[in-house]
Amino acid sequence: MKQRSSHPSDEAVTCEVVIVGGGPVGMLLAHELALQGVRPLVVEKLPVPSGVSKAGTLHARTVESLHRRGLREAVQPRPVRGRQTSVPFHFAGMFDLDLAEVSSEGPVIVGSPQAYAERVFAERAEALGARILRGQECTGVHEEEGRVRVDLQGADGTRHHVTARWVVGCDGVRSVVRRAAGIPFTGTPATVSALMGEVRLLDPWSAPAGWQRTPRGWTLVWLNPVGHSRVCTYDFRGPVQDRHAPVTFEELREETERIAGRPVPMADARDLTRFSDAALQAESYRQGRVLLAGDAAHAHFPMGGQGLNTGLQDAINLGWKLAAEVKGWAPPGLLDTYAAERRPVAARVLYNVRAQVALMHPGVLTDSLRELFRETMHLPQVNRFLTGMLSGTDISYDVRVPDDALAGTFAPDIRVKTAQGSTSLAALLSDGRPLLIHTVQAAGQADLLAPWSDRLSIVEVVPEPSSAMQAPALLIRPDGYILWSSPGRRARTPGLVEVATEWFGGPA
Ligand SMILES: Cc1cc2nc3c(=O)[nH]c(=O)nc-3n(C[C@H](O)[C@H](O)[C@H](O)COP(=O)(O)OP(=O)(O)OC[C@H]3O[C@@H](n4cnc5c(N)ncnc54)[C@H](O)[C@@H]3O)c2cc1C
Repeated sequence: MKQRSSHPSDEAVTCEVVIVGGGPVGMLLAHELALQGVRPLVVEKLPVPSGVSKAGTLHARTVESLHRRGLREAVQPRPVRGRQTSVPFHFAGMFDLDLAEVSSEGPVIVGSPQAYAERVFAERAEALGARILRGQECTGVHEEEGRVRVDLQGADGTRHHVTARWVVGCDGVRSVVRRAAGIPFTGTPATVSALMGEVRLLDPWSAPAGWQRTPRGWTLVWLNPVGHSRVCTYDFRGPVQDRHAPVTFEELREETERIAGRPVPMADARDLTRFSDAALQAESYRQGRVLLAGDAAHAHFPMGGQGLNTGLQDAINLGWKLAAEVKGWAPPGLLDTYAAERRPVAARVLYNVRAQVALMHPGVLTDSLRELFRETMHLPQVNRFLTGMLSGTDISYDVRVPDDALAGTFAPDIRVKTAQGSTSLAALLSDGRPLLIHTVQAAGQADLLAPWSDRLSIVEVVPEPSSAMQAPALLIRPDGYILWSSPGRRARTPGLVEVATEWFGGPA
């Protein structure tokens, strides 16, 4: 790597894309770019991965999206579960929801410790040509003359820099990239003080297992009678004075016992951390050649396991669009659809998390509110509404084809026969290319898009008897969302060629 130059603008661009932060979102983005033939450089401040998993749950839309990359099974360290008839889940700690119906394909929820998924994404990304530079902390980014300089500092204090056409900040909630780009991170401040850690419970069977609400707050204990148990405490009396103060074992033990109202003997604490319900979002996800994804773009109380999921879907939304920009075929405005689509999704997550925090307060008034809310959760419509929101399966994007009900929705995974044999829609999308699938009756649509075949796959299919195809032709983005469906005999405005041009540029 080059030494710092006093005239960095004289330097050659050393890579097309630098991703700052090799957490799960950064590594998945690296995979997505590499899949498109762009070789990103990931710079990560930790010399070796921490191995700590804050998140461990992947929700249905993330699972479906990873399935369209052949990654659904890979991110699961335990044997893969199939579909289940009932999948209890919670809203604000009330386990009265059933996720079973949120998706008609595969498992609707997947256990995937974030450190494990991060390693899988990193390995896949590297295999596809991404480079990962560990032990390098980004200390600043500066955009100048069509490129961005990323200042780095090694663990031994050595300073370097790399230059790139694009930089994506996937460097978490305290993002240096976001601050350097001058992007405000705004929202609502902390009202809750929370602790988390792993401890050995000395009397595991008397510990307050599971989610416990008391007049003094919440304890959450994921019990492991033979090893370390994860313990969380939520104190609703207000935010801690110094949010950066290190958590001590005594603090976690005393807080657990204060909220539980009895001794909870524990020892051997590790991975102690402090967090809050501050709900913040980047006011913009792009500043010139600098973009943000994951926790760098949005942060909130970890309620309903939505943070990582939102970030991973950011990566899948951004990857192909940024690759198109790098490769030169992106039509004007394509990259800006990233923020236009993903900011409202994260804003909605912040909104439902704030509502959950409100419902979790201790106290008799909230008791009644919770009871009333719990009753409504048993209404099928409410269950559908809340589970769709938590799972991300209610996400659809405005792709500007107003009279097409399918446009902007996620294409279901159907089984089809092609000239190469039996396959699935998910498998057809696994190379990350846009896809037009059509039946023989809609072969005319395929002819229209032939000039785009350098960047778009066109596949004639026969739906298998178990699968209903939603329309005779579907134009699908690399992230699985439908752009256009054939209306049958009627004409549709905009037509297929206009939509393809708008999203994939002019014909070759
Ligand atoms: C207690 C807790 C529990 C949670 N539980 C869940 C859950 O159940 N489900 C869920 O979906 N989400 C959960 N989350 C949220 C989830 O952990 C985050 O959304 C997720 O880690 C975001 O991934 P990321 O890659 O965006 O950021 P991070 O995981 O924070 O990764 C950022 C990476 O960037 C690196 N980095 C930071 N600064 C720099 C720099 N200057 N230079 C170079 N590298 C840098 C870091 O070392 C890190 O590797 C939880 C969060 C907390 C705090």
